[in-house]
Amino acid sequence: MLIPVRCFSCGIVIADRWVKYKKLLEDGKSVQEALDEIDLTRYCCRRMYVSHVELIEEVAPFSTYRY
Ligand SMILES: [Zn+2]
Repeated sequence: MLIPVRCFSCGIVIADRWVKYKKLLEDGKSVQEALDEIDLTRYCCRRMYVSHVELIEEVAPFSTYRY
């Protein structure tokens, strides 16, 4: 799914850095380097990024239409 907007443990906003993080990984940076570069220093926030599996493209076709 989408990256959660806030860290589940400390509550800071983390979703605003997701696009930059993905770009850094595409450019060949390691996960550690990318997380350092986007200034995610707390391990609770870093685990949100490391453990995230982006499934929105697989799930979106099955969503229901909302009136
Ligand atoms: Zn956190």
